[in-house]
Formats: sequence, C-alpha cells, structure tokens
Amino acid sequence: MSDQPTADESEQSPSIIVVGGGPAGLSAALFAAKNGLETTVFDTDETWMHKAHLFNYLGIGSVGGTEFMATARQQVDDLGADRRQGEAVTGVSESDDGFAVETDDDTYDADYVVLATGANRDLASELGCAFTDEEVVDVDVDMETSVAGVYATGAMVRPEEWQAAIAVGDGAAATLNILSSVKGEYYHDFDVPEDATQVFGEAVAE
Ligand SMILES: Cc1cc2nc3c(=O)[nH]c(=O)nc-3n(C[C@H](O)[C@H](O)[C@H](O)COP(=O)(O)OP(=O)(O)OC[C@H]3O[C@@H](n4cnc5c(N)ncnc54)[C@H](O)[C@@H]3O)c2cc1C
Repeated sequence: MSDQPTADESEQSPSIIVVGGGPAGLSAALFAAKNGLETTVFDTDETWMHKAHLFNYLGIGSVGGTEFMATARQQVDDLGADRRQGEAVTGVSESDDGFAVETDDDTYDADYVVLATGANRDLASELGCAFTDEEVVDVDVDMETSVAGVYATGAMVRPEEWQAAIAVGDGAAATLNILSSVKGEYYHDFDVPEDATQVFGEAVAE
C-alpha cells in the first residue's frame, strides 16, 4: 500500500472537508480517506446521478446512476470517511488555521476544503474564488481555486463536459494535489496486487 502522507505518525492527520457527495466529491473523499486524511463529506443527495444511467463509464458496461452511487458511498464508508448524508453546508470561510465549514447543526474545522456541489457555485462565490468568463469556478488541472487550500471539482468547473467519469477524475486530482502538498513532494497513490488484503481485507482475500 502507498505510504501515508504524514511524516510524523504521532501528529494528527490533516483534515479535509468535502462539500457534495456526487461522483466528484466521493472520489475526492475516497483518495483522502484511503491515504490517511481525516475526511468528512457533507451531501444533500441531489446528485444528477439519480437521473442517469451510465453506458459511458470506462470499465462498466451498464449501471444505473443510483446504483453507482450506492457502491461509491459504500466504498468511501469502508475506507473510513465520515459521510454526513443529509447535512447541508450553509457557509465556508477562512479561519486562523484553515477553514470553518458551517451547517445548521455545527461548525467544523478543516485544513483543506474540496467543493463538489455540482452546478451550484454559491459557496465558491461566497469564498471569493475567481470565476472564468464563462462563469464557472476557475481552476487549473490540479483543481485548486484562487483561494489557497480550496479546491473545486466536477460540474462547477465546466460550462459543459458534464460526465461522471470527468467528475471522478477531478475529485481524484484535487485530493492527490492536497496529498502532495501535505507530504511536500509529488504523491502517487499506486497499489499492487499484494496490497489487496490490507486495503480490503477478507472480502478481497476470498
Ligand atoms: C438526465 C441526466 C442524465 C445523465 N446521464 C449521464 C450519463 O449517461 N453519463 C455520464 O457520465 N453523466 C451523465 N449525467 C451527468 C452526471 O450525472 C454528472 O456529470 C455528475 O453527476 C456530476 O457530478 P458532480 O459530483 O460534479 O455533481 P452532482 O452529481 O450534481 O453532485 C453534487 C452533490 O452536491 C450536493 N450538494 C450541493 N450543495 C450542497 C451543500 N451546500 N451541502 C451539501 N451538499 C451539497 C448535492 O446534493 C449533490 O448530491 C447525466 C445527468 C443528467 C441530469
């Protein structure tokens, strides 16, 4: 299995909050939880995937969008993310040591924030993230916004090209960039067959 990102095991893991639990957000959460970041996902379950049926996701012949999401949620849960289903994020702001993420229930602290709210760009706008001329959140290939430590992924960063496979890639790219930032060098989440038992335990070993 890949090395964990924190150099000192005794230190608390860096924390990441993902806002939105569609394909982009769950992909970001998967890479974060799998690689030792303290990972929380907030989602209100309005993903477009509930309206979709995938025939264009490489490696999968045919799958219903809701079924795809159920598998993705299970995968993220199994890897240790705290998925807060039904808890809406009402605000994100910069704090002295990172970010404060607000819901009606509580305020949560995070070192990094990944926005994955589909076509809703309100939180990015309120945070002061730069937008493009096409009025989508302006990011580079690493998915970081103009606000350091805030990433934007999925439908919110493109006026078109709204595909699950692209959203999943965005989420992965965002978290890999965060992991590289934490580790201080390029981070590669590479596994080999011998890692299967450690990562997935008995289910894969059978
Ligand atoms: C009819 C239809 C058919 C489609 N068919 C296909 C297809 O065949 N193949 C394909 O690849 N794609 C298809 N798509 C597109 C695909 O569904 C999207 O590309 C994909 O869902 C985008 O993922 P995302 O994670 O960016 O956003 P979303 O899937 O929209 O997820 C965003 C999530 O964030 C949550 N959220 C938003 N704001 C907050 C907040 N403040 N707090 C907490 N949670 C919040 C929402 O509830 C939602 O669950 C289709 C879409 C539609 C509408």
